[in-house]
Amino acid sequence: MKQHDVVVLGGGPAGSTVATLIAAQGYDVVVLEKEHFPRFHIGESLLPATVSIFDRLKVHEAIRSAYILKPGGKWLYGEKEVPGEFALYDRRASFKDHPYSYLVERSSFDKILIDRSMEAGADVRFGTEVTDVISENSRIVGVRCRDEAGVESDVCGRVVVDASGLRAIIPSKLRIRKLAEPHRMGIYAQYAARPTRDDVKAGWFIGQMFYDGWTWLLRLPGDRFSVGTVLTVERFRQSGMTPTHLLERLVAENPLLNEGMTPDRHRISDVIVTGNMGNSSESLSGEGWVAVGDAAYFIDPCYSSGVHLAMKSAEMVADLIMSSSKEAPVASSLFVQYQKDMRQHERTVQRMVDAFYIASRNTSVQKMVTTCQGGYFSRRFVTFVGGDFQANRSYIARVRNYCRIVGSLFGNNPARAPENHPHYLHASSSSAKRRPVVDSGSSRN
Ligand SMILES: Cc1cc2nc3c(=O)[nH]c(=O)nc-3n(C[C@H](O)[C@H](O)[C@H](O)COP(=O)(O)OP(=O)(O)OC[C@H]3O[C@@H](n4cnc5c(N)ncnc54)[C@H](O)[C@@H]3O)c2cc1C
Repeated sequence: MKQHDVVVLGGGPAGSTVATLIAAQGYDVVVLEKEHFPRFHIGESLLPATVSIFDRLKVHEAIRSAYILKPGGKWLYGEKEVPGEFALYDRRASFKDHPYSYLVERSSFDKILIDRSMEAGADVRFGTEVTDVISENSRIVGVRCRDEAGVESDVCGRVVVDASGLRAIIPSKLRIRKLAEPHRMGIYAQYAARPTRDDVKAGWFIGQMFYDGWTWLLRLPGDRFSVGTVLTVERFRQSGMTPTHLLERLVAENPLLNEGMTPDRHRISDVIVTGNMGNSSESLSGEGWVAVGDAAYFIDPCYSSGVHLAMKSAEMVADLIMSSSKEAPVASSLFVQYQKDMRQHERTVQRMVDAFYIASRNTSVQKMVTTCQGGYFSRRFVTFVGGDFQANRSYIARVRNYCRIVGSLFGNNPARAPENHPHYLHASSSSAKRRPVVDSGSSRN
């Protein structure tokens, strides 16, 4: 059987980045993708640290001309705002030359990236679902896949790169995929309307925190919005609502969503649910394989870190593969440092996510965060939310510890509980008894 240099599972941002970089250097790369592009995907708010990868892939011009420039992200804590304007970076920021990013429509963004992979020489097979993993002597040597006519075939390579997103084909097969606690879920849809807030008009990502959860509002090209919420599965169940009902009530009652769009707003997509928010693979590589992007791990998206981590991890893996001999199977030792670096990113972002949720539950922590605006604190924060996760490790550890200390010292000062929180939805006693219905599954992701 033919042995390719690299077999990539999935053609999202992680898969297309690996494929483009390696194929452009003359390697034989196959990408197996079950969908046809363009296809819907969530994750529209990008970070400035990713812009240098767009330059390297030679897609920056296409992205600049198609999407909305994003100057930063802003969090609403009740009545207060915490802005993170990318131009106010710390002097160590990697994105000094381009302190901005983009709000993108993922269907066309992912197509720009995969088209570039094909242009670079990758063999991209759409409509091809990977159904199994092939191992020989404990080494993964390839995969079995099925095309739309139902025809099965095996595809083998010197290394298999798992870029299959939350599906995480190889870690799932090896049973090394673990779900984070507490279980959180995302509920989202697109709306047609015009923006009413100046910051939304100007391309800012806006998030609003509520007890143990948050909502987002961001503009897409053509008077459309991405609207959604992240909350614990337990709170969703307690609400007794369906995902559609819950999202529509948020749009009607949540100040950000209600006031951020013109009253003629209307939903133009299905309401989609992603259940497995926050999960990680115990190992990110092994004999014959390596995982990139969400297939490696997926962290709560409150800092819009997903696409950056997907493309950054893919870039790191592509460089490692290209540094190895073209004649032999890729050794697992090649990815040891990659695993260490990726775990470091994961810990750093996860610590900041912990701090975020501590603040969501405690008004004293919220007060601390909102009064620490300006100067050193803000610049380090901006550098972190711009995507420089590795460079800010000690700062992040300090922030998380301050939040924990203030949170425990003033534990008797919790943010108002969901039942009487004006930004939250609470169930009526009759609806609480109904079982929730999930409108559509995370299979859309
Ligand atoms: C509610 C929510 C909000 C988010 N918001 C943001 C945000 O604002 N900004 C941000 O950066 N990130 C955000 N994310 C995260 C972002 O969606 C992901 O991190 C990002 O898409 C990961 O890219 P990827 O290439 O690893 O995986 P994906 O983009 O999921 O690509 C994986 C590809 O693999 C294919 N595939 C899967 N299984 C198979 C199979 N068996 N055979 C063949 N192909 C297969 C899929 O069709 C897909 O095209 C959000 C996520 C959620 C859930």
